[in-house]
Amino acid sequence: MLSKKYIFQDIENKYTEFWKENNIYKYDFNSENESFSIDTPPPTISGSLHIGHIFSYTQAEIIARFQRMQGKNVFYPFGFDDNGLPTERLVEKEENIRAADLPRSEFINKCITTTKKYEQEFKSLWQSMGFSIDWSLQYETINPKIQKISQKSFLYMAESGKAYTKNSPVLWCTTCQTSIAQAELETTEKETTFNYIPFMVEGEKLIIATTRPELLYGCVCLFINPEDTRFLKYIGKKAIVPLYNFEIPILADEKVSKDKGTGIVMCATFGDTTDLEWYEKHSLPYKCVIEIDGKIYEKVPFLGGLKVTAAREKIIELLKENNLLIKSEVINHTVSIHERCGKPIEIIPSKQWYIDILSERERYLKVADEINWYPSSMKTKYITWVENLKWDWCISRQRYFGIPFPLWYCSKCGKPRFAKAEELPINPMETSPKEPCSCGNHEFTPDTAVFDTWATSSLSPLINAKWNTDDDLTNKLLPMGMRTQAHEIIRTWAFYTIVKSLFHTGKLPWKDIMICGFVMAKKGEKISKSKNNASSSPKELIERNSADALRYWAANSKLGTDTMFSEQDLKISKRFLTKLWNAANFCIMQLEDFDGTKPTEVMPIDEWIIKRIELLENTAKDNLNKYEIGLAKHDIDEFFWNDFCDNYLEIVKDRLYKPEIHGIEERKSAQYALYKVLLEILKLYAIYVPYITEEIYQCYFRQFENIISIHILQWDMKESKIDEEIIGFGENMKYIISQIRKYKSQRNLSMKEPINSIKISLPENQIVNMEKTIKDIKACSWAIDLQLVSGEEVKIEIN
Ligand SMILES: [Zn+2]
Ligand SMILES: [Zn+2]
Repeated sequence: MLSKKYIFQDIENKYTEFWKENNIYKYDFNSENESFSIDTPPPTISGSLHIGHIFSYTQAEIIARFQRMQGKNVFYPFGFDDNGLPTERLVEKEENIRAADLPRSEFINKCITTTKKYEQEFKSLWQSMGFSIDWSLQYETINPKIQKISQKSFLYMAESGKAYTKNSPVLWCTTCQTSIAQAELETTEKETTFNYIPFMVEGEKLIIATTRPELLYGCVCLFINPEDTRFLKYIGKKAIVPLYNFEIPILADEKVSKDKGTGIVMCATFGDTTDLEWYEKHSLPYKCVIEIDGKIYEKVPFLGGLKVTAAREKIIELLKENNLLIKSEVINHTVSIHERCGKPIEIIPSKQWYIDILSERERYLKVADEINWYPSSMKTKYITWVENLKWDWCISRQRYFGIPFPLWYCSKCGKPRFAKAEELPINPMETSPKEPCSCGNHEFTPDTAVFDTWATSSLSPLINAKWNTDDDLTNKLLPMGMRTQAHEIIRTWAFYTIVKSLFHTGKLPWKDIMICGFVMAKKGEKISKSKNNASSSPKELIERNSADALRYWAANSKLGTDTMFSEQDLKISKRFLTKLWNAANFCIMQLEDFDGTKPTEVMPIDEWIIKRIELLENTAKDNLNKYEIGLAKHDIDEFFWNDFCDNYLEIVKDRLYKPEIHGIEERKSAQYALYKVLLEILKLYAIYVPYITEEIYQCYFRQFENIISIHILQWDMKESKIDEEIIGFGENMKYIISQIRKYKSQRNLSMKEPINSIKISLPENQIVNMEKTIKDIKACSWAIDLQLVSGEEVKIEIN
């Protein structure tokens, strides 16, 4: 028996413990059953959790439960991406320190303490959401075992030339003081000024317009479009840079836009990526202006030592004073910023490690077709990104809390010395090579950079499969069944995982990729810590509303689509949970004396509800196999509220209450259907609301089913042919009931008001079934007389 009311607080905690104690979600390494492996995003440790995390992780979790209930051996690990810039920034903020001001080891220790705290918070939240993760498979990217895998991946790539080092201009964040990758760029609109400045050419003024006058000293040439007849005569001549009075050549390039500014462009090292393109294409010299800390190089006259913005103000002043500023227009323009700190990026030469991705662009484009993208539109996002790649993947970061590069450089000849596989994981800043360099020198300088955090998290399928260790499972688990992630990291996590997987295994990392949307605070605004626009914390939301209510809400979404959240939305969830509890309570009361045996004859309407849920289960499977958890839930809801509660239960109620009128076998037929269908309803809902379904199962069904938890039962309705006849019969019954209700409500009659007579006409082939259902209809419609006639289509007359 169920209690009258469902009190979720006690029950949710009870089952979180129960599942843990009984290893309900443990992956069985020895099972012969087909595995379904899930590559789930290791969250970065960058602050507290909000509803957005709940939203996307719940959707993936529902898939894990679904696959488990299809009899698959589900491999559902969880990891934390706990090194790298996001974590460093969190620690700097929380402790009000700057990494650069502390001894490296002290800062790293602080990072470790902070990540532990947040990981615990994450894990207990995930558990209280009922996530069916196998926690024995947990990993952290800073863990030595994972460092070893990551360093090994790098060594293999370096050995084959796929990873290489070069000294060249790189995207650089002067705030975080590290190189960054193209994938970490974001763009923003900023107001700035377009400054018109004259360069002198043989006594004539040639005016250029620039947003970056502070780079005048770094000016290496002027460019003119070769088709711009206005200025052709200047090509090949020399121009004199104002204020600094040195000569630069005037060159031609078709990339110059004739109608932007004056049509003449200054090229400095480096104002933007176009400058860099020109620098490479025209083999231009490099003149340093901005240094890695964002200050102007000290040897630059007038500006040395200033920050970029101050330098810009100062040079504008100087130009004005010298009558060299012809005009200054305020404009809005697009600036590239670093996604982690929102500050404009610079391009500064330095020595970095890269992974070659450009040379294999075609291969990466081709494999897009071999992966199943859900929703399919996300494939375009991937393709667009790969097509627009401009840089190889820079993987070195001049930061602290990360996995070190396992190498040193000979202090005499500069030759790199890589660590040996058996030495991994290694920190070259703490250990030195034992053998001398081939040049005979014994002294080495460690590489002090750390890996880009994506360089490790992109190995997640290999990490999960314990690649290249004694327990290597790559053959068993790869390609994984599915990857789940947000759309904004297709260009990083999805892409880099494909790159690494193809390189190391020659195979794709996964068969399917499921892309979830975000939760928006309001239209167009993502919930984020920095904006402080999240409502209550997930913990508070669970305490007030239950995990089931939140999960039920999260399952509403359309795949890949953003959604908005307000706590009000949970009312719908709570109404559903109450309805499910009450319906189950009613059924179980009617099942008190049910012995589990099949009746001699199953009544048509009972047959119908069984066939109907069979059909539902099959369509739900189809939807869930396509990751459409929202569509599947919609159909299940429709069945539960409409077919089951509003129609079926109303029709059979009297038969259950009054065997003396309807017959004992007839009552048993209804009980048989109730048992079967309620259990099936619970199984279908178990993937969405695991707690309440488990409680109902444990209170009643477990004693008969003899399986420890509903969550390891299977959706096992046969995929029999659709029985059109019985389904059509049920639909007609629904129609008849609705007409009777309509008749009464239009006349303001109570539903229990007797009706003198009802005449139903039906197609010939349904008469037999309907005859067997007359008593049910009479009882639920309170009709005194009921007549059946055969006719072309269903009709009902009420008097
Ligand atoms: Zn930055
Ligand atoms: Zn050497």
